[in-house]
Amino acid sequence: MVYRISFAHERELQVDELERRFKSYFPDADFKMFRKAYNFAEKAHENQKRSSGEDYIIHPLNVAGTLIKLRMDMDSIIAGLLHDVVEDCGISPEQIEKDFSPDIAMIVVGLTKISKIKFKTREESQAENFRKMVVAMAKDLRVIIVKLADRMHNMRTLQYVSDERQKKIAQETLDIYVPLASRLGINSVKGELEDLCLRFLKPDIYYRLAEKIAKKKSDREKYIRETIGVVKDKLLEYSLHAEVKGRSKHFFSIYKKMKARGVDFEQVQDVLAFRVVVENITECYKALGIIHSSFTPVPGRFKDYIAIPKVNNYQSLHSTVIGPSAERIEIQIRTFEMDEVAERGVAAHWKYKEGATSGYKKLFWVQELLEYNQNVDSNSEFMDVVKNDLDVGGIFIFTPMGDVKELKYGATPLDFSYSIHTDIGHRTVGAKVNGRMVPLRHKLKSGDSVEILTSKSQTPSKDWLNIVKTSRAKTKIRQWLLKVERDSNKVNGVEVLEKVFRLFRTSVKTMKKQKKMSAFLSEFKASNEDELYISIGSGKVSVKDIIDFLQLSQKSDTQEIEKQIDELDSLSQKLTKTARKKSNKDNAVIVDGMTDVMVRMARCCNPIPGDPIVGYITRGRGITVHTTKCTRIDFGDIARQVDVEWNEEFDFKHPVNIRIISHDKPGVLTRISKCINNMDINIKTALGKSLPDSKGSFLFEVEVKDYSELIKVIGAIESLDEILSVIRA
Ligand code: MN
Repeated sequence: MVYRISFAHERELQVDELERRFKSYFPDADFKMFRKAYNFAEKAHENQKRSSGEDYIIHPLNVAGTLIKLRMDMDSIIAGLLHDVVEDCGISPEQIEKDFSPDIAMIVVGLTKISKIKFKTREESQAENFRKMVVAMAKDLRVIIVKLADRMHNMRTLQYVSDERQKKIAQETLDIYVPLASRLGINSVKGELEDLCLRFLKPDIYYRLAEKIAKKKSDREKYIRETIGVVKDKLLEYSLHAEVKGRSKHFFSIYKKMKARGVDFEQVQDVLAFRVVVENITECYKALGIIHSSFTPVPGRFKDYIAIPKVNNYQSLHSTVIGPSAERIEIQIRTFEMDEVAERGVAAHWKYKEGATSGYKKLFWVQELLEYNQNVDSNSEFMDVVKNDLDVGGIFIFTPMGDVKELKYGATPLDFSYSIHTDIGHRTVGAKVNGRMVPLRHKLKSGDSVEILTSKSQTPSKDWLNIVKTSRAKTKIRQWLLKVERDSNKVNGVEVLEKVFRLFRTSVKTMKKQKKMSAFLSEFKASNEDELYISIGSGKVSVKDIIDFLQLSQKSDTQEIEKQIDELDSLSQKLTKTARKKSNKDNAVIVDGMTDVMVRMARCCNPIPGDPIVGYITRGRGITVHTTKCTRIDFGDIARQVDVEWNEEFDFKHPVNIRIISHDKPGVLTRISKCINNMDINIKTALGKSLPDSKGSFLFEVEVKDYSELIKVIGAIESLDEILSVIRA
């Protein structure tokens, strides 16, 4: 434990500093009341110590500091200074009312009440916890904001209390105060609270993240500075003046991403977030246009919260782009006003001076909740009312045990069961929502209490992929389907091979004894028996191939065999037909052991026939085919890889980019075009520009059949006189 002494003198300086900050936005404010409250609190808490060993007054002073940072009104700040005097020092509310004001006394009384709420454990009803909090804040929202500031300082100094208390307080913060801060839109408080919760609830993860982020800190800061410069310059090219900021994302949001995608820190790509702040909405969209044309946007990552604000009034444009050094970066674009609301949320509505309370007239939902609270009896009914108000981004679902799960908006009972456990997901047959049976595709709402019904005989089906919304559920279902298909191919393969072997009076056992098995496996490019069975079962290796091989090596009596060959032949044809079905005209590649699967070529490496390739199961888009050299995919993630091979029956016309550097001489473009056309190859587009040192750069998009054709074209162009280099781009 660290023992620290705070000198009164030091605190005087702190009070001076708070006054300076307060007056920086409320220049003509009267700060006398603050000093009076400070002296009052210091006297009341005299001789009391914090767990850290510091004088108690440090705590209310820090609470007031957070409130000043949120630019709350003087009543709230003074209530922050006095928030513990009724409970801890036996000061009566009447005295506060007399010495200060009825409003301040009311806030302090509200805070004292909250501190007496016995929050139920998570196994009990969350609804009741929220109900109590909403009742407290409905009277005056400032009660909750001061409470959040109080909790913030307690969380910041949580290392000084016992381990058991650390866990309890952090869990309560995550369950109750974080959703409230989120609903009130106070993101600055929410972000810090979440990180602190992570630090005390999952210290191993927190410190690993902290270490990893610190390790590359100077590189990252340099990169952030440079990127800010690049973004600013790009915007200035179009005479757009913007404030650009950059930072590493909060640990908690990195952690959430890791959990949602089931990946490790190294695989979380976009850990940096940049913010572009401009004057007005028109400039927001203009800035977005400039950024999207300067950096490649990542598809599916653009969100317009300006057109459709979040329920907590948050507004901003979000996009993820490939940054200057090929790293994914998140960009938020908003006006100064939106930025203010995003950081301070509901606190941004407070105006100092008269009509200070007008701010929360805007919060209809609190008023509504207050009315509902008077009219409903049960907690579950109340939760029905609260439910849609707490869904910022996601929805909160209750387990029968009162545990809370956060799911994506639009999630179904199936998503919920996969969020509990993969096996529960696989075995789901039905669900009860708030006690009533619903279909599996039922859309869940915040506050729903969901009970999953399972059966041991249940297995996932393909159409489940259309029902689930979360990527976790999708991946789990896909992995299962893939495995089942391989398993059934294996069973078929075993059966076929046994029949063929019997024909030749042999068996796997005998082959092994004769030490012929490994030659047999390598003939069919299988690294083990299972792989061979799958190849046979999927029709990749035909019965005829096996017979041919065995006839050669065994020199058997062919006459007897031929009698049975017809039967095996039809079996072979049946399997080959299944294999053909896989390679329908839409599919350029055959996916090992899987039929009827969506396949597309990765844009990053644009593989063409002849390139060594690997399939990668994507979330929601079937299988993406990459070259084995592609740097964009994670080859460590074995679970998502599948074997693929080029479908020779597929008729390709595949676009490929070729970048050519040449001497800048007249007619060179024509000569290149002619050279390509002479090979009967179609040119889709051609771009050219002059480089310094009288060189020219060309980008041709040509359609080739396969890798060898591409090599031929490149070779032909290279042989032209003016050409300096030709590469596949
Ligand atoms: Mn306190």
